[in-house]
This record gives sequence, structure tokens and C-alpha cells, in this order.
Amino acid sequence: MKRDTRLIHSGRSQRDRELVNPPVRRASTVLGDSAQALYEPTPGEHHYGRGGLSPNDELRAAIADMYEADHVGLAPSGLASVVLALRAAVTGPGEALITDSAYKPVRRFCDEELPRLGVTPRYYDPRIGADIAQLITPQTRMILIESPGSLTFEVQDIPAITAAARAAGVTTVIDDTWSAGWLMNPLALGVDYAAQALTKYAGGHSDFLMGAVAARGAHAKRLKSQESVNGLHVSPDDAFLCLRGLRTLPLRLERSGATGLELAHRLDAHKRIARVLHPALPSSPDHALYARQFSGPAGCFAFIVKDASAAQGEAIAESCQLFAMGFSWGGFESLILPCDRQIIRTAVPWSAEGALLRLSVGLEDVEDLWGDLARVLG
Ligand SMILES: *Cc1c(COP(=O)(O)O)cnc(C)c1O
Repeated sequence: MKRDTRLIHSGRSQRDRELVNPPVRRASTVLGDSAQALYEPTPGEHHYGRGGLSPNDELRAAIADMYEADHVGLAPSGLASVVLALRAAVTGPGEALITDSAYKPVRRFCDEELPRLGVTPRYYDPRIGADIAQLITPQTRMILIESPGSLTFEVQDIPAITAAARAAGVTTVIDDTWSAGWLMNPLALGVDYAAQALTKYAGGHSDFLMGAVAARGAHAKRLKSQESVNGLHVSPDDAFLCLRGLRTLPLRLERSGATGLELAHRLDAHKRIARVLHPALPSSPDHALYARQFSGPAGCFAFIVKDASAAQGEAIAESCQLFAMGFSWGGFESLILPCDRQIIRTAVPWSAEGALLRLSVGLEDVEDLWGDLARVLG
């Protein structure tokens, strides 16, 4: 079956086959008929609720099918999923190479918590490509990729980075939230752990937080064990919503991506815009890499308003009527976010020709969205 069909039929309940959507089973205690059943449950059965019952199992199965993974770990937020992947990838003291474009709260984990695990973070230029080999030392344990990067949308050469990592025995992790595991499969490009905030596109309705990590082989085993020792649990109600969101993921991505790219083209041609940060634009420095690795664009990108101060950028966002202002992205409703207050770069200093605004393009009509932007830009 093609993957669009598989996404509709994967993760079906084995227990309640007559139901289209698996039932929500809320439980901490799971009763057993015998001590043997409690201590050594048959494979596929649960003896306690922490690992998740239904529809958590079905959600894991559907995501595993998307990534062709051997295990999918679920975490209570996207941030927790990236942290889970990093904890699984770090197997001893040394150094970690972290993309300079990492999501800011992930960066905080790297700066504050990795050193407590004996790991020193070193930040690298997201456009480094195969030259990452020159940063790898005998101490390097792990590389964290995010592509495209948060806020600034640089695309990374994943096959080149994973090839260099494998040659040196270094484990790789990616924050794959933008592609949602649908527009790209990082595991097929050689990444060991793929994490994503299901909060964004998989959920798609801006009403819960969750994250997933997918891995294969020995990494899948390690992931399963890390998930368990760290006590991660996801509510079955949220798992139900997430699985429901997943069924329409390709449709929503296609629509958001197409509308977003159309808006990106129009912004690119607008006299007040210095630069549009969207890898699917042919004028983007990342376009060739993007075209090689992604099957299409997501609907999240940014642009720089020429000569605007951060305060002027904020005023533009505040003047929008259709684009609401708020954190997060990937929902059905379009959002705009002024970003200058949250950019941190240490490997490659960030310099822009004006204020940076990020759009998360939802499912509204493209002309209505453009009308709002054209009005506030003047
Ligand atoms: C939002 C986001 C996260 C964190 O997701 P939460 O569910 O909000 O914790 C991680 N990585 C990226 C790239 C994100 O945009």
C-alpha cells in the first residue's frame, strides 16, 4: 500500500476491531488473573498504565509506520521528546555538536543539563554540511540536527552529516518537527533518533502538547529503556486526539504548505521585505538541499521586514487581524510571531536587515491571508 493509504489504516486497535478509532482506556492499575500475568504479561499486554494502554499503543504503531521505525517513544511535550532522544543518544562523557539553529528551550537543556551528564555542548553552523567532519574529535559523542532550523529555517545536509557521524561512531539526533516525519524520513537518511513535537502538525488543532521519538535497531532498544526509566507518560485522551490528527496530516500539510509558499512568493516580491526565509523558494540558498531531502514544504516560514526595528516588527504583528499572535505552530489557524526577542546564535552571529517575523500558515483562504499581510505592510 502507498503511505497515504497506510496512514489511514495503520494503528488500528487489535482488541476492538469493530471500532474505527481505538477506545480511550484510562487506567493506572491493570488487573491480572495471576501473579504470573502481572509480572510477566504476554507480549502486547500491559501490567501497568504508565507505559500507556490504548490508544497510546495504536498511536505509536501509526508513527512507527510513518518512520519505518522499530520503536516510537511518546513524551508529554515536544521538548520532552527531544530531551528523551538526547538522553538516549548520550552514552558517556564527552562533547556534543549542537546546531546553532536549535529550538531555544532545547538549547537551554544542552547548556544546563548536558554538562551534568559529563557532556560539553559545542554549537555548529547549520550550513556546515560535510565539513562537520572537521569538528568531530575523539570526544564527540552525539550530534543534534534541526532542519530547517527554528526561526531562521536553514536546511542541513543530513546525508553528509550522518555519513561523517557514522564514520566516527557518533550518534545523531534530529528535531524533525517541521517535516512532521511526513515530508522527510530522517531515519532513511541515516539519523539514529528522530524527535518531533506532535504538538505542531500531527496534533494540528493547537489543543494539546506531545512529542515522539522514532528509532531503529539497537537505538530503538535504548530509546524504549530511556522512556521507561524516565517515567514518561502521555494521557490516553491526548493520544486519542493525536491519532485523530494524524489521519489528516498529509492533507493539512499539503494545504498549509501550498498556501505558505504562495505567501512566501508574494512577500519576496514586496518592496518592504528584505528577505523571505523559506527553503522551498527557488531564490533560497537552501533550495537545492531542500529539494533533495523534502517531498514538499510545511507552512511555517519567516521573513525580514526591511530596516524595521524589533519594536516596529512587533507593531506589524499586532496590527494583523486574521493572523493571530501566539507561540507554537502547525495548527489549522494562521499565526504570526515577532521573533527578534528570542534569537540566540553563538556559532554564526545573527545579523538581519530588519525585524524577523515568523508565520504559521493555517487552512484559511490564501487571498484573505494575503489581504491581511498586504494591509499591515502597506
Ligand atoms: C515547538 C517546538 C518544540 C517543542 O514542542 P512543545 O510541544 O511545545 O514542547 C520542539 N522543537 C521545535 C522545532 C518546535 O518548534
